[in-house]
Amino acid sequence: MRVRVDEDLCIGCGVCEGIASDVFSLENGSVAEVLIDPLTEEFEDIARQAAEDCPVSAITIEEEENRANNSETTVETLELAEEEAEESTPKPCL
Ligand code: SF4
Repeated sequence: MRVRVDEDLCIGCGVCEGIASDVFSLENGSVAEVLIDPLTEEFEDIARQAAEDCPVSAITIEEEENRANNSETTVETLELAEEEAEESTPKPCL
């Protein structure tokens, strides 16, 4: 999961930092900075909470669909490799 803060929307209120100080910080400026990217699983719930509570909806949560897609791609690749291996196996002469 990835988290983004829209710097044009963020008003630097600190709500996100108050909810998830491990994930968001306002130390280096007037807009929130994301400290962990991509997010580890342990911070996903508080990051979602911060996104819900952000008064200007500046926080975007991106669920990582790529993980599932990559798995599918890997399975497809393996299936193709197996088919090719079968086709290239010499047939016994009768
Ligand atoms: S809660 Fe929203 S507006 Fe407030 S600092 Fe965080 S990202 Fe910015």
